[in-house]
Amino acid sequence: MPNQASHAGHIAERTCVICRKKQAQMNLLRFVIFNSKFVIDPHRSLAGKGYYCCQEAECLKKLEKWIQKYRKRKQKKV
Ligand SMILES: [Zn+2]
Repeated sequence: MPNQASHAGHIAERTCVICRKKQAQMNLLRFVIFNSKFVIDPHRSLAGKGYYCCQEAECLKKLEKWIQKYRKRKQKKV
């Protein structure tokens, strides 16, 4: 019998907010906005809108700036 990927084949993919590359969710770092702060969610258990970033040094380095920009955008809106 051919090895059919029935339920083992599905891998949840998420997009890195920095480089916009799609990757398996388990390879990405999840973080959420909690009380208007970014919180890293290593167990993927926190509620709220999740954002994902590669665990590459390049992306992590840019992530800080991305967060700053994001917060500025939020503040301007009010
Ligand atoms: Zn990335």
